[in-house]
Amino acid sequence: MTHRIGIGYDIHRLEPGSGIVVGGVSIPCEYRVVAHSDGDVLLHALCDALLGAVGAGDIGEHFPDTDETHRGRDSRTFVQAVLALPALKPWRVTNMDSNIIAQVPRLGPYKLPMRQFLAELLFLPLGRIGVKARTNEGLDAVGEKRAIQAQVVVLLEPVR
Ligand code: MG
Repeated sequence: MTHRIGIGYDIHRLEPGSGIVVGGVSIPCEYRVVAHSDGDVLLHALCDALLGAVGAGDIGEHFPDTDETHRGRDSRTFVQAVLALPALKPWRVTNMDSNIIAQVPRLGPYKLPMRQFLAELLFLPLGRIGVKARTNEGLDAVGEKRAIQAQVVVLLEPVR
């Protein structure tokens, strides 16, 4: 086995507010994310992609939303905790790619800052971090500005 691949998905409801956090970047807007933690949909999907790649469960198992210690928690600490798991120790991230699907807010200006944040978090050069943003063409809950979604894939290689 030379590589492992993992896929992650997350969705959060949006409601009126003063800003959201996506990919570690604070985005001022007229919405907030309904979530137990800081509601960073991209970092949650990243956690699931990492966990899935090594068959180590999912984010809900590791960080239950019934646990009060996770309330309002900065999601970067979820990613750091996942990376520190024994199951991840024999592996390092080769690259990651992602989709963020949101009708609001406009994410275009924040894609580069998100990639810079993720590059630092995963100890990767910028060229190994993909962040793509798109609307949902007005369709479904995302298109109706009631939700934001993210999808992440990661590739892992053995640490030599
Ligand atoms: Mg989530």
